[in-house]
Amino acid sequence: MYNIAKSRIQKGVVTEELTLIGEALKSEIQKKFNRSLHIREVDTGSCGACESEIISTTNPLYDIQRFGVDFVASPRHADALLVTGPVTLNMAVALKRTYDAMPTPKFVITAGDCAFDGGPFKGSYYIEGGVSKIIPVDFHVPGCPPKPIDLIKHILLAVKNIKVN
Ligand code: SF4
Repeated sequence: MYNIAKSRIQKGVVTEELTLIGEALKSEIQKKFNRSLHIREVDTGSCGACESEIISTTNPLYDIQRFGVDFVASPRHADALLVTGPVTLNMAVALKRTYDAMPTPKFVITAGDCAFDGGPFKGSYYIEGGVSKIIPVDFHVPGCPPKPIDLIKHILLAVKNIKVN
């Protein structure tokens, strides 16, 4: 019973914070992108946990789509690129090609410690060790992995600070 009550309180707190962040995000997206922000996600060789948290932003609790954020399959339809993983040598060219295929204006967000500097894989012979070695990065979401609420917070910060005109 105690655990159920505790979980309800924690979810309530997350939902309250999420509503505030989400409404701010929605209003910022409407100002700068008219109706919606389209994000292409690229995994450059992560362990899978960062993607799992990104997927959680679309679950019924977080439901990031209601704030105007959509994940798209093609870089040609994307306003922003969200990158995870330490950039394995195999993925470096694919990452650069994806970035080049996006229309301008565009911006890049990295998520997770791997994407920043290799994280736990730092020093491995088979990684580039950070997305910024391949393409320009505008914003970073720290964590291993970052929580869904932190991803949403940082998308808000990125949209607030980005110039699109
Ligand atoms: S930052 Fe951590 S959770 Fe994310 S891909 Fe790297 S090891 Fe996995």
